[in-house]
Amino acid sequence: MTEKAGGSDVGASELAAVRDGDHWRLWGEKWFCSNVDAELVVLLARPENAPPGSRGLGLFLVPRTLPDGRRNDYRILRLKNKLGSRTMASGEIVFDGAIAYQLGALDQELKQMLVMVNSSRVSHLARAAGIMRRCLNEALVVARHRRSFGRPVIDHPLMRRQLMKLSVPTEQALSSLLFAATASDDVLQLVTPISKYRACRDNVTVATGAMEVRGGNGYVEDWPNARLVRDAHLGLIWEGTSNINALDAIQRAIGKAGSHVAFRDAMAQTLTAAPHIPGQFRTRLEDAVTEAVAFAREVATHKEYERFCRVAAAKLYHAKTATLLAAEGARLGMAGGDARRLVIARFVLDHRLREARSPQLGTSDWEDGAIGALLSECPMTIDQAINFVQH
Ligand SMILES: Cc1cc2nc3c(=O)[nH]c(=O)nc-3n(C[C@H](O)[C@H](O)[C@H](O)COP(=O)(O)OP(=O)(O)OC[C@H]3O[C@@H](n4cnc5c(N)ncnc54)[C@H](O)[C@@H]3O)c2cc1C
Repeated sequence: MTEKAGGSDVGASELAAVRDGDHWRLWGEKWFCSNVDAELVVLLARPENAPPGSRGLGLFLVPRTLPDGRRNDYRILRLKNKLGSRTMASGEIVFDGAIAYQLGALDQELKQMLVMVNSSRVSHLARAAGIMRRCLNEALVVARHRRSFGRPVIDHPLMRRQLMKLSVPTEQALSSLLFAATASDDVLQLVTPISKYRACRDNVTVATGAMEVRGGNGYVEDWPNARLVRDAHLGLIWEGTSNINALDAIQRAIGKAGSHVAFRDAMAQTLTAAPHIPGQFRTRLEDAVTEAVAFAREVATHKEYERFCRVAAAKLYHAKTATLLAAEGARLGMAGGDARRLVIARFVLDHRLREARSPQLGTSDWEDGAIGALLSECPMTIDQAINFVQH
């Protein structure tokens, strides 16, 4: 999808498709193509005479090798010199009349591409969950075996608290991933972007925290932490940045499709299926879901609250994962297994949801003016500054 003119704004894409008998020919460029040496490529291009914007884009299949054995007419200009994920070749491509085959109906193309984007976003959640697990395991092994001030570092109170902070997001991501594997399509429409956004951001914090647990060695390439830190960052950008996923969740999934209803039902069913969650804690979980959904709807309904989409998506993620963790812990515990996930659910409510507490929507309007002034290239006068702090 991504071109120089548009990554987030896919509708700005310029790659042109010109009909040539029973197939099409492509002219133009793509700016970010991962697995750039693939045998088959699925891409978006704009058929001749199609309207501007995302509605005018068509979906095409492009083979690397043509039926007669020749290379198709596109060139890899260069491979990207990336921060991480270097074993996967990402490149820039120029199409010089490459042969392409139309996929599906031309007016359904972006919709079809979004099916792929959403499953790919779930794969980013899987990657984040996997990297965090590796980071947590590395950190626990180091903390149990490294000694400082006469004892294993895991026995120091500050280290114990840090390890808890690595563990909670790791378990949240695992529960999110397993839930996504079985969720219905209308629930997925909402939980995919909130999980992609939040788990990928947590991945960066957890990878950095785990590196620190290893001390100086964590910064050295002899151990895996430096690579894990680099690779974690990719999830923030590919398949939509944090902002784009938060907007998709709140404005598209809730605002346009109303998928919060299916989400709320799914959370209620999760709690019903876990009768051993204690009563007061169950009420806290129910309240957390209700409050997160109400806040997200408020933000979705008012365009002027767009800046709170990330807060809203984060609240939904934490309320969802607390519910899932509690149900999993109760179920496992009642079956004679490990009930720790129930306790992790409380950490999510006490720590993570508190961090993402709802801003006072109406009363934070002064921030709009203040942010505008801070982001402008003009100095701020003392009168302006006093006005902002006294508001
Ligand atoms: C390693 C790697 C591999 C990739 N592989 C592929 C691939 O195979 N195929 C592919 O199509 N793409 C691929 N990408 C591209 C990636 O999906 C895009 O870079 C990404 O979607 C962002 O687009 P952009 O770079 O044009 O940034 P922009 O769209 O220019 O965004 C710049 C900044 O503006 C913000 N922004 C944009 N619009 C809004 C808005 N409405 N509200 C708030 N903030 C906004 C973004 O969040 C971002 O922070 C890859 C990227 C990387 C790093």
